Amino acid sequence: MIEVLIVGSIGLDDIETPFGKIINTLGGSAVYSSIASSFFAPTGIVGVIGEDFPKEHMDLIERRRIDTKGIEELEGKTFRWSGKYEFDLNTAQTLKTELNVIENFKPKIPEEYKNAEYVFLGNIDPELQLSVLEQIKNPKLVVSDTMNYWIESKREKVMEVINAVDIALMNDSEARELFKTPNLVKAAKEILKLNSDYAIIKKGEHGAVMFTDNKHFSVPGYPLEDIKDPTGAGDSFAGALTGFLAQTKELNDSNLRKAMVYGSVLASLEVEGLGVTNMDFITQFRIKERFEEFKEIVKF
Ligand code: AMP
Repeated sequence: MIEVLIVGSIGLDDIETPFGKIINTLGGSAVYSSIASSFFAPTGIVGVIGEDFPKEHMDLIERRRIDTKGIEELEGKTFRWSGKYEFDLNTAQTLKTELNVIENFKPKIPEEYKNAEYVFLGNIDPELQLSVLEQIKNPKLVVSDTMNYWIESKREKVMEVINAVDIALMNDSEARELFKTPNLVKAAKEILKLNSDYAIIKKGEHGAVMFTDNKHFSVPGYPLEDIKDPTGAGDSFAGALTGFLAQTKELNDSNLRKAMVYGSVLASLEVEGLGVTNMDFITQFRIKERFEEFKEIVKF
């Protein structure tokens, strides 16, 4: 039985950073986030792949014991994204987005996923996010993410998603773009006005901030000397946050703060390698060790 249900993209990425280039690598928001979530709770993916999706990529997902019954294969090509980072690793420059099979995807949730209590609507077409959410019977917690591509093409639907979730999560640049303000506190207030209980703004290597109506909490990024590739950091953050909350089963202030720290822990472990590959080597021991380091970092 899965506890966390994740919908998002499953793709083939070409990534260029100042430290290297990889092509046709396993990527997608659902991949990074479900791997991160799987360290905390049984996780299943809803997503779509094309006929060209390599078997070894599916093997990596299955090695993490992620339930793949919700992955559908359609005729045609898998989603493809290519991006480039300059020395400022906080902003990816999208070179190419090919939606391919995502364009014809009509998610049908396997019967046993319908009782999932924790749902992460990862970055994908907001209409697909809404269609998945409609099929879940009685979720306890729904978290969402998005990106500029969807804000620019389906702004109203992105707003509808935020209106339907408990925690809306997005990058700082996306929050500024969506709410047309340079100020992140104002952007967070707009998210909260849209009926979300929590707004979480991710700030790349500088960590993340969580806002509620009357409080906020900041978690720093882990000070890494060797960041190889930031792709997937935001998805890993979100997957770990949702997975940890599913593990604790109790949504209170203390657990939410810990979930933010676990998000930052997984994001920092993920960016130490190119692409998704080094997520294969993350262990519970390394997660615990870095979590303890965070306690030291924020103590005063
Ligand atoms: P992140 O670095 O966490 O923002 O996410 C990177 C992942 O998002 C990559 O592996 C891409 O395959 C995926 N991605 C890029 N553009 C889109 C998009 N428009 N919709 C869904 N996923 C995307």
